[in-house]
Amino acid sequence: MAEERKAASEVISGTRIADVEPDAGLAHIRHLLHQHPELGFHETWTTTTLSRLLADRGLEPRTLPSGTGLVADIAGTRPGPLVALRSDIDGLPVAEETGLEFASQNRGRMHACGHDLHMTGLLGAAFWLASHRDAIAGTVRILFQPAEETGRGARSVIDDGVLEGVQAIAGIHNNPDYAPGEIAVGLEPMMAGCVKLRVDLHAQGTHAGYPQSGTGPLEALASIILSLQTIVSRNVTPFHPVVLSVTEVHGGSVWNVVPAEAGLLGTVRYFHKQDSELVERRFRRIVDSTAAAYGITADVVWDDFQDPVVSDPSLGAAVAADVPGYAQLAPIRPSMAGEDFCEYSKVTRTVFAFVGSNGGPDHHDLHSPRMVVLDEAIAPAVRFYVAAALRLLEELAS
Ligand SMILES: [Zn+2]
Ligand SMILES: [Zn+2]
Repeated sequence: MAEERKAASEVISGTRIADVEPDAGLAHIRHLLHQHPELGFHETWTTTTLSRLLADRGLEPRTLPSGTGLVADIAGTRPGPLVALRSDIDGLPVAEETGLEFASQNRGRMHACGHDLHMTGLLGAAFWLASHRDAIAGTVRILFQPAEETGRGARSVIDDGVLEGVQAIAGIHNNPDYAPGEIAVGLEPMMAGCVKLRVDLHAQGTHAGYPQSGTGPLEALASIILSLQTIVSRNVTPFHPVVLSVTEVHGGSVWNVVPAEAGLLGTVRYFHKQDSELVERRFRRIVDSTAAAYGITADVVWDDFQDPVVSDPSLGAAVAADVPGYAQLAPIRPSMAGEDFCEYSKVTRTVFAFVGSNGGPDHHDLHSPRMVVLDEAIAPAVRFYVAAALRLLEELAS
């Protein structure tokens, strides 16, 4: 029985994924993409380049209505569902310090999140799928999404109707904590939900020498900042990772005036919706009652910026079961960073994977000016995209 299951996961729709041979020119393409990073919604060179590469293979890419990013459909020889594969395409305002031969040529811009690997992996999958249409029962929509780093790219894709009719979508993020050839995908949450916080305290203000003549916000602000740190330590279950960080405080501009206004900014990261609801309740309670205790008022902005990234349970399990047939299935080590891929879960079924991209003892993290993605990560990325597309088509057809 176990043998049967293993054999089944090595072959999807008649294709042995381990035999999917990525295009020899992909490393060169990746280096080219890496040299030309562009910021979100400004990826014009990237869009033109991807478009040309897809058109060279007989595909008909369409630039997205937002102006950057593109989509191309690969129809199989047999009818079936419509599924999508997504890569983000934007870089970051980071000055590259890797010293790589193919380092960024755009000053102050870098593919420091490794989206050049995602693009290359998806291009490789598109090339392979376009020349193996007999392996496809249905249609695979190739989506190069702009502006992931702004948190607004996926939303714009959805608002432009690009996902209409798409029954499931798979995406990846490279992860330098894992070695090339390791892939983590499954049921557990992978990337954190993210809340943006803002508190504005309103007092009366007064002369610093006559504090009794008014009210001030600073003592309340100090007290709020310390009290907020008890939410994770005293209220949230220790078995769920949650972070609450205060990252900016403002208030006052001179030494001899008690200011009327002060406030803070910060963020909450979480993996379970019930934790974020609990933190929000405690957060509002602490701010409102502390302000009241000091005789001032408070405005709270709780902006649910991004949901956690977690795969659809049955599709995530099905895609994960295939991985040992072509790569090493690694345990999910969740990331406290956010991902706008979570937006797609609101409109369709999703599968997300970490693709190992470095794994060396001294590797640098995503967004670091010294982050290095290894070319050895390209082939596993291509194979994951191909395997996920074929598996999703098969699961949705049954
Ligand atoms: Zn990033
Ligand atoms: Zn990223």
